[in-house]
Amino acid sequence: MIKIILSCIITQYHVLRRKAITMITLSTKIEEVPKIGVTHAKRLKKFGIKTVQDLLFYFPARYDDFSEIITISQARNKLGEVACVQGEIVEIETTKSIYGRMAITKAVVQDRTAQINVIWFNQPYLEKSLKESDFICLAGKVSLGKEGLFFNSPAFERINEIGENEELTHTGRIVPVYSETRGVTSRWLRYIIKPLLYRFLEFIPESLPAEIIKKNKFLPIQEAVWQLHFPDSFEHADAAKARFSFEELFLIQLNVLKEKIKLMQKKSHACPMDSGLMKKFTDSLPFQLTDSQKKCAFAILKDLEKTVPMSRLLEGDVGSGKTVVATMAALNVVKNNHQVAFMAPTEILAKQHFRTITESLKNFDVKVGLLTGKDARIFKEAETTEVSKKSFLGDLENGQLDITIGTHSLIQKGVEFKDLALVVLDEQHRFGVEQRDHLIKNKKLVPHLLSMTATPIPRTLALTVYGDLDLCLIDEMPKNRKKVKTIIVEAQQRKQAYEFIKKEVAGGKGVFVIFPKIDSTASKLKESLEKAGGSPSSAISGSFVPQNYAPLSLASLAINEVKALKEEYEKLSKEVFPDLRITMLHGKMKAPEKERIMLDFKKGEIDILLSTSVVEVGVDVPRATIMMIEGAERFGLSQLHQFRGRVGRSDMQSYCFLFTTDPSMLNRKRLKALVESDNGFKLAEKDLEIRGPGSLYGTQQWGLPDMAMQGLSNVFLVEKTRAAAKELLEKDPTLSKYPELKERLKNFEKRVHFE
Ligand code: ADP
Ligand code: MG
Repeated sequence: MIKIILSCIITQYHVLRRKAITMITLSTKIEEVPKIGVTHAKRLKKFGIKTVQDLLFYFPARYDDFSEIITISQARNKLGEVACVQGEIVEIETTKSIYGRMAITKAVVQDRTAQINVIWFNQPYLEKSLKESDFICLAGKVSLGKEGLFFNSPAFERINEIGENEELTHTGRIVPVYSETRGVTSRWLRYIIKPLLYRFLEFIPESLPAEIIKKNKFLPIQEAVWQLHFPDSFEHADAAKARFSFEELFLIQLNVLKEKIKLMQKKSHACPMDSGLMKKFTDSLPFQLTDSQKKCAFAILKDLEKTVPMSRLLEGDVGSGKTVVATMAALNVVKNNHQVAFMAPTEILAKQHFRTITESLKNFDVKVGLLTGKDARIFKEAETTEVSKKSFLGDLENGQLDITIGTHSLIQKGVEFKDLALVVLDEQHRFGVEQRDHLIKNKKLVPHLLSMTATPIPRTLALTVYGDLDLCLIDEMPKNRKKVKTIIVEAQQRKQAYEFIKKEVAGGKGVFVIFPKIDSTASKLKESLEKAGGSPSSAISGSFVPQNYAPLSLASLAINEVKALKEEYEKLSKEVFPDLRITMLHGKMKAPEKERIMLDFKKGEIDILLSTSVVEVGVDVPRATIMMIEGAERFGLSQLHQFRGRVGRSDMQSYCFLFTTDPSMLNRKRLKALVESDNGFKLAEKDLEIRGPGSLYGTQQWGLPDMAMQGLSNVFLVEKTRAAAKELLEKDPTLSKYPELKERLKNFEKRVHFE
């Protein structure tokens, strides 16, 4: 393969090209590359392509198989299928459509066996680039029209003679198809990338260690890059993909493990476990811990005894009882005379934790503080008092406060702990290195870290993005729970479901209604714009906005989401449940208002709480027994499972009603999985299987590259990359012997952000 490439480089054509771009190297900015120019460069930057090297590493999303070239008469047997033929143009003409707008190019192409008609729309430049008696290679779907065989808008390229197939780019081969954006077509990318490959392939340095390539029989980097763009066969393309899937996951693993090694060299407060105290605490609870809770608590308490900083992820389904496990860890640290910070994602949750934790620790002489955006509260000697923020922060700095619960306000400027030994993070998904650094700034000792999540992520993802954390799992529910009955409600059963809800409410139960943030014109527009590849803000000012839409700002989009929710509210409160107390909750509300509503709902002063997905995380309302979800097809399985976890938090039978307007089999299959399984981990795996890695929570926000994402479906591959990264870092922690790998890792870290 490489031979062919090298031989091509010395052809006349490429020598000329080479002269034209002698000054260019792999790191040259794309706007300096001839034929690209400023406008295209801008467009390419949308894909993160800034340099020649980036462009060469912009891999196709899929391929068109035009590799079999047949005669035109053979194409007759391929009606409705894709075929590739070569022939001579015997006629070609470009005319304007009736309204004079669109160019229509018609041609007749013939080989020694037969003729085929060709039509292209709106490609006026064809008039100049294709002439009678030119030879051409065509690929596309074969149709039969009034005038015989024809191609509608086939891919094409000029050739020197019939039978030429060595140097084809757009036809007569397996053709790469890239993710496109406005003005950047796959054809254009092939036209740009191929000559750059000829020129620069040999300068791409190998980044994987030789022993890894050998052991895994990977293609060397230059061949792999070539084969990904212009594969000789699908096997070659797969081999190239396998290499880069490995490499990207390997880089992620190196990144997380490197951080871990750094952290292992630091020191933490050792907090010996006080078993007597732990027993006293668990005895004081109104329930018995599940075996899973005990196991996890024990693992965490053991970690805390060490001087090596703990980094643990406590994973457990919604309602599995993670808070009490964290409380045990906190209590143990406090009794070793150190401080604890407990960070929640929202104010509602921070306040809920404050209430739960102060309640469960009320007989243990612990000072618990709550710090949110505005409020500062301290719980002392069985009562809660509001204090000024200033005095609160003073107490924190003096070490007067033992456990401080809060939101991100805990890592704001001016918040200083005297002696922080444990940080508990609830549903933070990923605590940034930066945030942790902030907490340990100027400190000799690093706090232990306990991260908790109810977002069940598949094992592969956990091993990858949480690769530096030790995992422990609460995989059983408290015994008093009844399984939530999950029902897909057909359109004609809606009334029945409403009747059922009325009965439940009459019995004092609470109902959640989740309404997806969509059904307004504006949101639909936003969605379609995003699908069209533009960000809403840029697209709105761009020229392809439909004429009948007034310009919209993002703020007005948000208002319209609220409007859609209000419409639903009107419907429910006026038509469906006129006698019931219904309240709305949405993301645009201020925290105190949201908190008041949640409390009213908890106390039973609200019957039905209608909301967008803001109730997704953690709020505990045991009296709620019905979760009704509109537009269920809009949500991932894991998210639906999280919603469902809002009910079934008591010994009463609870229900989850799924409403959907999408009749597709795929949607049915997904929702059925939810009916059949109440295991969050299985559902996350299922999501991965049905919707692909892109649907996984967090993958988008982390910006994982494509190949790595695809690799996430493969447990074996993930484990292999992890083992390889570990082995390499053990041998060479700073990667000093692998400068190319180090360089790639550096670039990679810039691109991917694990937060
Ligand atoms: P999550 O894991 O979703 O954070 P929580 O910690 O909020 O769950 O616990 C949910 C509810 O279950 C709380 O009301 C808590 O008091 C209760 N709970 C926790 N553990 C047990 C248990 N072993 N038996 C019974 N109830 C429990
Ligand atoms: Mg929780």
